[in-house]
Amino acid sequence: MLVCQACFRTFEESQPLWRCTCGDLLALRLPGMFALGDLARRDRNIWRYHEALGVPSSDNRVTLGEGGTPLLAANIDGAAVSLKLDYLCPTGSYKDRGSAVGVSKLKEWGITEFVEDSSGNAGASMAAYAAAAGMKAAIFVPASASGGKLAQIGLYGADLRRIPGTREDTAAAAWEAAQSGFYASHNWSPYFLAGLKTLAYEIAEQLRWSAPDWVVTPCGNGGLLAGLHQGFRDLMQAGITKSMPRLAAAQAQRCDPIFRAWQNGLDHIPTAEKQETAAEGISCAKPVRGREIIAALRDSNGVVETVSEEAIWKWVEQMGRLGCYIEPTSATAPAAASALIGRGVIPRDANVVVVLTGNGLKASDKIAAHFGGA
Ligand SMILES: *Cc1c(COP(=O)(O)O)cnc(C)c1O
Ligand SMILES: [Zn+2]
Repeated sequence: MLVCQACFRTFEESQPLWRCTCGDLLALRLPGMFALGDLARRDRNIWRYHEALGVPSSDNRVTLGEGGTPLLAANIDGAAVSLKLDYLCPTGSYKDRGSAVGVSKLKEWGITEFVEDSSGNAGASMAAYAAAAGMKAAIFVPASASGGKLAQIGLYGADLRRIPGTREDTAAAAWEAAQSGFYASHNWSPYFLAGLKTLAYEIAEQLRWSAPDWVVTPCGNGGLLAGLHQGFRDLMQAGITKSMPRLAAAQAQRCDPIFRAWQNGLDHIPTAEKQETAAEGISCAKPVRGREIIAALRDSNGVVETVSEEAIWKWVEQMGRLGCYIEPTSATAPAAASALIGRGVIPRDANVVVVLTGNGLKASDKIAAHFGGA
């Protein structure tokens, strides 16, 4: 069942919808949960958790092998952490978890053409899954998006529309186009969000069905944070794990609406003014899942940390020195973890997972320009 988060109206899952008739976000409510005993003989991709994903028939499930990414032991400023290498997903970002489920649901609904807008990674991911499912996708992205992401979208065969101006201008152009096609926005889709819960399931499974003390992650529109929160909630409700990790949301100082709202104790997130940031994937002046972000932070006793452009580039380099090539957006997480450990907010002996969300190969143009081609 789909439930509106604002007016609580309910809808059948057989109805192709991306939001409520009142205009607000829909949440997916499922009766079941996977049984741990069955997992041993299932494949290492997100569909091993299919009972929690809302695509009942395996005929409709589209996969490129997303999920099953390593949890790597490393250290940040001398403190032991685990790095969740989600930049190793098929299209180079964690968004594949959401796209796999979102596009599978479109397939179930009989939809063959859709419109999506993104800062780059979700567009590349949705384009790849459209290709895998034999669908036509029109992907709207800011003209300034990283070259690798644009090349990917074109190569997967999608209709790439580069929009001059801000991320918000891109959303407006997609919205316009969606008047005559299905708007499959990853930021709105309750199925895309369901796919993101698998990040929490997987982390817990890799920790032998326990929850870490902290999870540090970049936060833009909030899908990733909301998905992690719901995933860990599901596990607790099913009696699989006992605690909710504290969630730390990383933002760029140059675009920090969540930080401002959190500091001021607000229930929603007002639009913030923003400047250009290297963290293009989380450059959202008005997060779509604002209310959910605040709720997830409150429920998990979380924190929001902002990082400077300097710190972002420093952590692109530091992660590189550990053998992890990540894009600048992704570097906000280790940068925030470093600051939080440094101030003692995260204790040095805590069990910390830092999510590395996007592959550096997508942004090699910008990384090479920054480090002088080195
Ligand atoms: C999309 C994205 C994020 C942030 O995700 P939200 O769900 O919008 O908060 C973080 N890192 C990378 C690399 C991304 O592409
Ligand atoms: Zn509603």
